[in-house]
Amino acid sequence: MKAGGLPPRIKIGPMIYQVKLEPGLKDGDGLLDGRHRPSDCSLTIRAELPDSDYRKAVLLHEVIHACMETSAVRLPQELVEPVSDALAYTFLALLRDNPKLVEYLTCR
Ligand SMILES: [Zn+2]
Repeated sequence: MKAGGLPPRIKIGPMIYQVKLEPGLKDGDGLLDGRHRPSDCSLTIRAELPDSDYRKAVLLHEVIHACMETSAVRLPQELVEPVSDALAYTFLALLRDNPKLVEYLTCR
């Protein structure tokens, strides 16, 4: 784990995404909490976000974007963000609340 407890890399399908912290992360419209960029295989979290449940949900939100990209899931544009948010919060709770499920799913 690197500073802040974030995993340094996350493998999603055939891609290995680098997890980065960037101060003042923004796009043209203003500050972003997270960004998924498949062109350089990066998942970037705004460095000012304290380590919290919210930051974990932001990372998972970006992971879900990467999963959709890798699996070629294409949602209507207006659904991309709300579906990513809904799945991020749902999976964060599911994984936390069911450690035996995680153990079962991840055991080889
Ligand atoms: Zn998003």
